[in-house]
Amino acid sequence: MAAKPPVLILLGPPGAGKGTQARMLEEDFGLVQLSTGDLLRAAVSAGTEAGKAAKAVMEAGQLVSDDIVLAILRDRMAQPDVAKGIILDGFPRTAGQAAALDALLAKAGQRVTAAVSLEVDDEAMIARVSGRYTCGGCGEGYHDEFKQPAKAGVCDKCGGTGFKRRADDNAETVRERLQAYHAQTAPLITHYECQSVLERVPAMGSIAGVRSMLAGIVGRVSA
Ligand code: ADP
Ligand code: ADP
Ligand code: ZN
Repeated sequence: MAAKPPVLILLGPPGAGKGTQARMLEEDFGLVQLSTGDLLRAAVSAGTEAGKAAKAVMEAGQLVSDDIVLAILRDRMAQPDVAKGIILDGFPRTAGQAAALDALLAKAGQRVTAAVSLEVDDEAMIARVSGRYTCGGCGEGYHDEFKQPAKAGVCDKCGGTGFKRRADDNAETVRERLQAYHAQTAPLITHYECQSVLERVPAMGSIAGVRSMLAGIVGRVSA
């Protein structure tokens, strides 16, 4: 019987590199990135009921309620492409979400394959998040200082020239988000340590260096 598709979790504060690394793991391993932040931003843009409820909370740098996030995640996990294996980027973020994920996976006879904690310094995260921008065409992430496109103003991936910045990527909101991370999300590290699936990855180095450490872990756990 073929091995079950991996369920990987990327844990880490805002700016740790979850989105950047998740996109590269998609390329390297054919997995599907599932970002609750992206799903919530899409709901806000579409003006759905969930989006309306989430908007102000996100702008304030606080966590959206478990009910809303879980409803959005369940819908996304019902799509057929998740059968390739998933990388959860920015989910779970609370003990309630982690318990709900365990229950959802158990129903399908699955469990978390690995939860990777990207270990970084808070102070450096303010600079990472403040300089972040993405391609409006394909969503590729960039940074004013740390990851510029090869040709200024042109996306490396799709050739697009329209870029956007998130309203919540300012120094003040990032501090609030870092606090939310430490209070509500960092305790999940122990949850996954108890399940013997925790992998700690030092993530202050280069994007390429972190990518190769993650590739080693994913290759090992999905073998
Ligand atoms: P997260 O999804 O964890 O919030 P991102 O992947 O969006 O983080 O990365 C935040 C910003 O920092 C982006 O602008 C990205 O280009 C940049 N970045 C990501 N990883 C690194 C790294 N290892 N070194 C320097 N900059 C990085
Ligand atoms: P980052 O990449 O900087 O960590 P995200 O894009 O993952 O940020 O999330 C942006 C915002 O969306 C969060 O500050 C929070 O308000 C909301 N959000 C995203 N994922 C979750 C989640 N799993 N639970 C609660 N709120 C979430
Ligand atoms: Zn692009």
